[in-house]
Amino acid sequence: MSETRTHCPYCALQCAMTLTAHDAGPLGSAPAVTVAGASFPTSGGRLCRKGATAAQLLGDRPDRLTAPLVRDHRDADLRETSWDEALDRVVSRITALQRRHGPDAIGVFGSGSLTNEKAYSLGKFARTALRTSRIDYNGRFCMASAARAATEVLGLDRGLPFPLTDLDAACTVLLLGSNVADTMPPFVQHLQKARGLGGLIVVDPRRSATAHLTDDGAGHHLAPAPGGDLPLLLSVAHVLLAESLVDDDYLSRRTTGLGAFRHSVGEWWPERAQAVSGVSATRIRWLARHLAAAARASKAGGDPVFILTGRGVEQHRDGTDTAKAAISLTLLLGLPGTRHGGYGTITGQGNGQGGREMGQKADQLPGLRSITDPADRETVARRWGTTADALPGAGLPATQLLHTLGTDRGVKALLVHGANVVVSAPDVRHVERGLRALDLLVVCDVFLSETAAMADVVLPVLQWAEEDGTLTNLEGRILRRRRAVTGPAGARSELWILAELARRLDSPVPLAEEPEEVFAEIRRVTAGSRADYSGLDWERCADVAPYWPLTQTRGTEPSTELSTTGEPVIGTPRLFAERFGHADGRAHLGPITVRPAQPASAHGLTLTTGRLMEHYQSGTQTRRVRELLAVHPEATVSVHPATAAERGLEDGARAELRSATGTLRARVVLDAGLRTDTVFMPFHFGGTGAANRLTAGLLDPLSQMPEFKSTPVDLHPISAA
Ligand code: SF4
Repeated sequence: MSETRTHCPYCALQCAMTLTAHDAGPLGSAPAVTVAGASFPTSGGRLCRKGATAAQLLGDRPDRLTAPLVRDHRDADLRETSWDEALDRVVSRITALQRRHGPDAIGVFGSGSLTNEKAYSLGKFARTALRTSRIDYNGRFCMASAARAATEVLGLDRGLPFPLTDLDAACTVLLLGSNVADTMPPFVQHLQKARGLGGLIVVDPRRSATAHLTDDGAGHHLAPAPGGDLPLLLSVAHVLLAESLVDDDYLSRRTTGLGAFRHSVGEWWPERAQAVSGVSATRIRWLARHLAAAARASKAGGDPVFILTGRGVEQHRDGTDTAKAAISLTLLLGLPGTRHGGYGTITGQGNGQGGREMGQKADQLPGLRSITDPADRETVARRWGTTADALPGAGLPATQLLHTLGTDRGVKALLVHGANVVVSAPDVRHVERGLRALDLLVVCDVFLSETAAMADVVLPVLQWAEEDGTLTNLEGRILRRRRAVTGPAGARSELWILAELARRLDSPVPLAEEPEEVFAEIRRVTAGSRADYSGLDWERCADVAPYWPLTQTRGTEPSTELSTTGEPVIGTPRLFAERFGHADGRAHLGPITVRPAQPASAHGLTLTTGRLMEHYQSGTQTRRVRELLAVHPEATVSVHPATAAERGLEDGARAELRSATGTLRARVVLDAGLRTDTVFMPFHFGGTGAANRLTAGLLDPLSQMPEFKSTPVDLHPISAA
């Protein structure tokens, strides 16, 4: 029996766990693995259902990919083959396509679920071995707008610029568009004090599990119409400014751009915002005054105040402006960089934070460096042993990368790592058509996901507890996932696959294969950058999970400060105490744009999508866990009972939903906690129940974030469809 301390394979809370591999059975069967929660500040030793059942993903399951698969022609079935044949096939097709169409004929699609080492190697592989600019990742569908907003306003993008445990002391937490009670249940322990003081305020069109945490005097639930968040926030800012409830001293010392911001909110008086958001003017005024009073009380020696956003307000075509408005509210209140509270965004994917720092984004090199900045290009190229001239420029954001497949502007081949795009991308039927038009689709995955099932070559990879690596959690802490068990003999590490492909492509820049070697390279390459990992130590990550930035000259030793759980703090747990990330050291308030509403559907219904407690992302992993699938086995659409009755729908009936983009069928679940003009679908299911058959691929022009949360739809009983 052996025990290994590691972290969960799923979300960005990265709960700690102990995996126990029990001895093999008498007939030589694979050792059973059990999971138990372990001490860690974000999770307090707890696990949710997903984490507690994660060991079922390990081992030689019948549905596990254990050998490379290839398809001999478009209509042929996938067949098993050797690694040599599979890699040769990939390399010869890539070489031929690039000879004919140039380097950008090949696209690479990464993921916020990859370890830091894999995300880093993927970016380096794309830009040095493939010499393509066409790389982006699924974080574009997840954190892009919040990341852009934090970079614009605060000058640095770290999800929570403070330890999550700082929430433990908060008297007021405004939670916008985040259902943590379902998506990351151990998070809820950090809201207990605010709940006890009646200070948890949840903004969500649904009466979600998190909204229910405000019941019995624990707080307040505001339910704007989908897409009504931005007018609501601007109106709260309007009241703060109109009633002189802002912190003038903080604003003059620590910010610029107040005039432009004031102009943007000038017309959003509460009665106007009420008409658009559906939240009453009285509630808007109450919210502004409540936040201002709590912030004032904190500065008089009271408890801190936090405003947090999640995908519910960020996955909109005005997602960046909405996140900017939320950050701006905290600046008006004089909170960020003080002990009185601040703003944070709650990262979703396990390595959503590290994934966007390591250089797999279309516009970034490792260390949050810009691919268009000459000095950044020069630095990274030199450290990679190449020249800035040899590096490609900026690529296409993920949505455009996928939506141009099959067109003259599109790539001819796509390599997909750790993503299931025909479930998770907007307008998935369009994406499916594009994938079919490719000359080559290569998918690296653990299981035969819906996307892998369409591939010409499928490469089976090791996962989570079968290999070593680091991830960066929602607080910017770098932690180690450790190898606890041996993976199937036929599966390989993605680091090995990328290094081997680079070798076979005669890349002038070699790639390291071992996680610790890649980690050492990340330290060298990010040194001096905004996300500086240079002071990190492989073992130190395993022991204490330091916070970046962590330079070689600062922050590498434990500070005298202890975390709330009594452990030493290493690195930079709290950002912005003296300066924000911009060169002038100030936060940049600025103009906010509200875009015209989409035309309503004939039925006046709006679809919003989200997650369930039992499933993670596209469900590739969690739909394979028996207990999780039993609770939620198929796509459902939640409908208010009055809305269902109007359409002749009963609980459990099958209904058809139509949008301008597509049609799907799902089982009806009645939910009196919904607005009557809103229906809700989880996005974890593929095929005819994929919620993203209905979403349209409308983009936020600032971050290229797709609109996932507000799609006009019609709803019919199947018989009448
Ligand atoms: Fe924790 Fe998230 Fe894993 Fe659940 S899924 S155990 S909340 S890390």
